[in-house]
Amino acid sequence: MSSPQFTQPWHGIARDQITWHPVINPEVCNGCGLCVTSCGRSVFRYDYDARRSVVTEPGQCMVGCTTCANTCPEQAISFQPLSDLRVVIKRNKILQRVKKVELLDRERFGVAKPTAGA
Ligand code: SF4
Ligand code: SF4
Repeated sequence: MSSPQFTQPWHGIARDQITWHPVINPEVCNGCGLCVTSCGRSVFRYDYDARRSVVTEPGQCMVGCTTCANTCPEQAISFQPLSDLRVVIKRNKILQRVKKVELLDRERFGVAKPTAGA
């Protein structure tokens, strides 16, 4: 069962409207279980019969995260093309939203504008 804290909207977009989750190539996976133990969002479970990991909660994956793919020793994990995610970001004007929130936070908390090299 999915955990509500990991399926919150992403920048105002319902999580189930965004396709972003790991896909394991079972031909390449060596069953080490590193992805199960390193993901903090319980996206994977370990199948002890098949002796390999499986993706059981794809909707809990953090949009844009690729940690498990980067740490998999067999490069057995892949994701949807980044270009798809860029389309979501552009279509929903996410960069503008993020900038607006940052400006509001700066005003509210009196945070100084970041300087290059700081
Ligand atoms: S880290 Fe890679 S090789 Fe190890 S269980 Fe996960 S998918 Fe398989
Ligand atoms: S990309 Fe990040 S959040 Fe998603 S399954 Fe991998 S480690 Fe977990």
